[in-house]
Amino acid sequence: MFTEQLPLRVDPYKMAKAASEFQTSLSLADLTRVAELLTHTQGVLTLQLSFAIDPQGIRTISGHIQGEVEVLCQRCLQPMPWTLDSEFTWGIVHQDADAANLPRAYEPVVLEGEELELLPVLEDEVILSLPQAPYHKAGDCKLDLSQVHVEETASKAAPSKENPFSVLKKLKQKH
Ligand SMILES: [Zn+2]
Repeated sequence: MFTEQLPLRVDPYKMAKAASEFQTSLSLADLTRVAELLTHTQGVLTLQLSFAIDPQGIRTISGHIQGEVEVLCQRCLQPMPWTLDSEFTWGIVHQDADAANLPRAYEPVVLEGEELELLPVLEDEVILSLPQAPYHKAGDCKLDLSQVHVEETASKAAPSKENPFSVLKKLKQKH
């Protein structure tokens, strides 16, 4: 397997004929649409891509994206670590209508012209493998549901109690 810079635009037919393989890394900061969904963009994702021609003559690109990212917990709005690990096989088609003829295991990627821009398709792949509504596991979440309940009960009971600040005032006056 080659380790080299992945070109941003590829000719999938040439690459498939050459059975090209890449092992590279993607900077999170370069994935602008992905970055919007993350709490920070430090770090990289590792990427493996293999171009091939399957027995039916379909040009395919198989890939594996892995990495550690942080998304925002929708309950407590604090960062939540998420391990990305996505394997996929793209089947190259020339129009949307051809997608129906692809084997089910392939995700259709429409090639307009001769070259394919890899980054937008890779971004789609990463976005699909992020959780749609991320929540910490119970116990990890800063906003514990049992605590919310306690706070609500406390605030309901508050009017009958003495204001804690006036208690403080009294204590200060004594000393
Ligand atoms: Zn949380």
